[in-house]
Amino acid sequence: MNLHGRTIHELHQMLVDREISSFELTQLVYAQIDRVEEKTAAYLTLTRDLALQQARAADERLRDGRDATPLTGIPIALKDVLCVRDVQSTAGSQILKGFVPPYNATVVERLDREGAVFLGKTNCDEFAMGSSNENSGYRPVHNPWDLDRVPGGSSGGSAAAVAAGEAIAALGSDTGGSIRQPAALTGIVGMKPTYGRVSRYGLIAFASSLDQVGPMTRDVTDCALLLQVIAGHDPMDSTSSPRPVPDYLAQLASGVKGMRLGVPREYFVSGMEPGVEAAVRAAIRTLEQQGASIEEVSLPNSAYALPAYYIIAPAEASSNLARYDGARYGFQDGSGRTVIEEYQATRQHGFGQEVKRRIMLGTYALSAGYYDAYYLKAQKVRTLIIEDFKRAFEKVDALLGATSPTVAFPLGAKTADPLAMYLNDIITIPGNLGNVCGISVPCGLAGGLPVGLQVIAPGFREEVALRVAFAYESASGFHNAHSPLLEAAVA
Ligand code: GLN
Repeated sequence: MNLHGRTIHELHQMLVDREISSFELTQLVYAQIDRVEEKTAAYLTLTRDLALQQARAADERLRDGRDATPLTGIPIALKDVLCVRDVQSTAGSQILKGFVPPYNATVVERLDREGAVFLGKTNCDEFAMGSSNENSGYRPVHNPWDLDRVPGGSSGGSAAAVAAGEAIAALGSDTGGSIRQPAALTGIVGMKPTYGRVSRYGLIAFASSLDQVGPMTRDVTDCALLLQVIAGHDPMDSTSSPRPVPDYLAQLASGVKGMRLGVPREYFVSGMEPGVEAAVRAAIRTLEQQGASIEEVSLPNSAYALPAYYIIAPAEASSNLARYDGARYGFQDGSGRTVIEEYQATRQHGFGQEVKRRIMLGTYALSAGYYDAYYLKAQKVRTLIIEDFKRAFEKVDALLGATSPTVAFPLGAKTADPLAMYLNDIITIPGNLGNVCGISVPCGLAGGLPVGLQVIAPGFREEVALRVAFAYESASGFHNAHSPLLEAAVA
């Protein structure tokens, strides 16, 4: 296996043992980017100069040996919704073209402090609204397993980069499934931490009560390593939790013997592909063989999660996106004769179709006379979903299900039908509304395409989700299956 296909923990050992330098490793990853980027379109911006400079600094740190950490010298990709100082950050939108933030997101700052190397900004659906990356304001991303298929979304560029060997790991963001679903569709690991576990400072906002930043990696150990660094209180984000961050690696290998794992009846939704269901049921059996007890549970309000999400998320988005007026950030149309005309022209030409759809839906749901009927009601449904999870977690330690009801679908298959696209997140969205955490871990292939097992744990119990996912990964070995783009480079 070429080095750009290895994990953070393997490469860390090699860096410490001086088998390779971070500079060489970074160059190897860029060589792979040069080979395959034309096919995947995983990146919007590459930061080669910055990366090589960071790699040199990391090598010095590794030579000193004193303060080298597991991420020192590791090349990482950042979703374009994360602000990186002096690097164009567009959230996949034309309206932010040319926006160069003067500051780092807290997660970016933390990675920088560890000595990580930033390869570039990854392609994503515009303002993270989408499930296929086809809503990118620039170009769609192609799935490294089959270039005619989507990588999932909205963190599809981060997922494709990791799956194609164009990054060792990546950060994504998840509002309704945007880390877990693309991770599942590209055969990698992706985790949505509990709301409040990771700072949102410097994350370009989509829906502020749901957004979370999280890791996208080649295995569960790497996921734990990255989470360890980005988790924890941040005075710059008042919604970040002051709870202490546990040692995520310490309990990773504790196994599932004696654990109670619940399978929500409602998660085997109609329309689920038989190949996905078969892979997930087999994964559940594997965990049972590892000593977990499996029981069926019910999350009765699951069916209302999607409609509630499509009120709450667009409502918050319509408010968050009001700031893009052409005067303050990025793109300005310039054709208006009055201020109002200029706002209109900038927003008309700067936003894509899906973003406009959400702004209209959200503005409508929040408007006088409709607020109680839509927004307030959706918030009540959200409370029911939170209670569903609480009740289930009185009986079981974690929940198991598919991440997505389908494998990666062909590009263009769902673009004409927004509802069909929205339905792809039917098993991830409840986790965002319910304030829990979830991880997707590869659980085999269906028709040659990756399937993800989702492990959901209670709020702030990321160590539980990681432990179950690690037990499964160790027993199954499915994380060792690589996309043809990554395998081709090995030969
Ligand atoms: N696909 C969902 C949406 O379009 C979720 C996106 C996300 O998690 N950012 O809203």
